[in-house]
Amino acid sequence: MTADKPFITRFAPSPTGELHLGHVAHALCVWRVARELNATVLIRMEDHDRTRCRLEYERSILADLDWLGFMPDPVSRASLESSPSAFRQSDHPERYADAFAQLQRVTDVYGCTCTRTMMETSGPDGERRYPGTCRGMPLDREGRLVARARIPGEETLVEDLLRGPLLHQPQHDQGDVAVRDVFGQWTYQFCVVVDDMHDGVNLIVRGEDLAPSTGRQWLLARMLGRTEPFITAHHPLLYTADGRKLSKRDRSETVRAMRDKGMTAEEVIAAAERGGTQGVKGEK
Ligand code: GLU
Ligand code: ZN
Repeated sequence: MTADKPFITRFAPSPTGELHLGHVAHALCVWRVARELNATVLIRMEDHDRTRCRLEYERSILADLDWLGFMPDPVSRASLESSPSAFRQSDHPERYADAFAQLQRVTDVYGCTCTRTMMETSGPDGERRYPGTCRGMPLDREGRLVARARIPGEETLVEDLLRGPLLHQPQHDQGDVAVRDVFGQWTYQFCVVVDDMHDGVNLIVRGEDLAPSTGRQWLLARMLGRTEPFITAHHPLLYTADGRKLSKRDRSETVRAMRDKGMTAEEVIAAAERGGTQGVKGEK
């Protein structure tokens, strides 16, 4: 990373539910790292999954972020007030179609009809590895198919500010990457790489559950012509009292619910810093 290049990071929620405490803890991390490195924070709506994302969730996430005082780069924030927006994935299908065409020029992008159960579990986190069964198959095959891109079999190295160097073997651990799902939607892995490249993002701050995706994302990025490296900061996630990853299902932990209970923005932020509202309830 050249020292004269300013850092650009992003806060990129998927609007599949309301903002919850896990998001707030994540936002604290994004803005903290950004402050330290003097980085711009873009906001981007990752609504690639059209079956789960809703505009009303996007509205409510933006309103809650405003209320909490998280201020992203004003151009990206203002752009989300309108449609189309360059920062809302569903508004620019041509960006992904172009990237897909580029991928087809440099690697085998094939129609895969394999189901999850046909894959091997081998990755470091018990992740399923795709063994490459359908390589060379056309994209217009009969049946429900995923478009998969062949990735090179090399090791990747990405610098992580919190975890040190991330050394991955994506082909060995995960295999070829799905870029379009059975519903014809672009996958998270693909969209995030295309958008980070498009937006000039060179600092990726996100939850540690996504750390294992870093290597294959770098390989995809390179096949799409990216030459500028990025660095990452993968932070710990919030967990519920019974040890589950805090998610949108935990209704009581939504910012909306906390606001409705009369909590102030400062109290919600303090709860996220503590790692949950359990403490708050316990004190009463
Ligand atoms: N949209 C993703 C999420 O909500 C963000 C993924 C990323 O930061 O790479 O978890
Ligand atoms: Zn297959």
